[in-house]
Amino acid sequence: MSSDNAKVVVAIDGPAGSGKSSVSKAIARSLGYGYLDTGAAYRALAWRALDQDTDTNDDGSVTALLGSFDYAISLDPDAYWVRVGDTDVTAAIREPRVSSAVSGVARVPVVRERVNELFRSLITSAEAPGIIVEGRDITTVVAPDAPVRILLTAAADVRAARRSKELTGESTTDVAASLHKRDALDSQVVDFLEAAPGVVVVDSTDLDFTHTVEAVLDVIHNRTGDGDGR
Ligand code: C5P
Repeated sequence: MSSDNAKVVVAIDGPAGSGKSSVSKAIARSLGYGYLDTGAAYRALAWRALDQDTDTNDDGSVTALLGSFDYAISLDPDAYWVRVGDTDVTAAIREPRVSSAVSGVARVPVVRERVNELFRSLITSAEAPGIIVEGRDITTVVAPDAPVRILLTAAADVRAARRSKELTGESTTDVAASLHKRDALDSQVVDFLEAAPGVVVVDSTDLDFTHTVEAVLDVIHNRTGDGDGR
């Protein structure tokens, strides 16, 4: 980002199940960079909405949650945690009930403005020489001037299969249905299925995890001259 000369900002967008969280974490570790999972903020707000029985169809009720939203996240890929107030919600925000509710809070414009301010200040204050920032709108809205911008995609059936391997308690059909529903709802708000001009597409459909990490590291290396540390 132009406001932060010394730090390399790597923006990675993509749909659910594209592997962006695990790939971003691995790359942050390999380069000694920070890692910012932006989806966690929306998930934590959705967790709070469920906790308080908030109607996520009502913009005013969702916006009111922001008033007392005391949110903190680790930028260390080796010590990842998410907190709301004194509560560690790292595991709770991955529950399927939160995944189902999250698009309802993420669609509210005031919510997006508020969390985007938070993301930008986290990026600026990060101490590492670089930071990997992943989400849906990082390449286009949060950090459009980042020197490296990547859209990590994969075919819908491959994404659903990967996600259902992670969520052991649920049937593949249920996982695929909720993932596709969330993508459809999210894409009404942000276009993360098409790359914006200047954004490099990495399609992981036919790549395993290691090769996806390598492909993304190659893009970073080409764009910055960094990335040889693997
Ligand atoms: O990436 P993850 O699946 O954890 O994101 C959870 C949800 O947060 C997404 O489904 C989307 O509704 C929202 N989100 C967003 N913009 C981002 C990151 C996540 O709208 N930059």
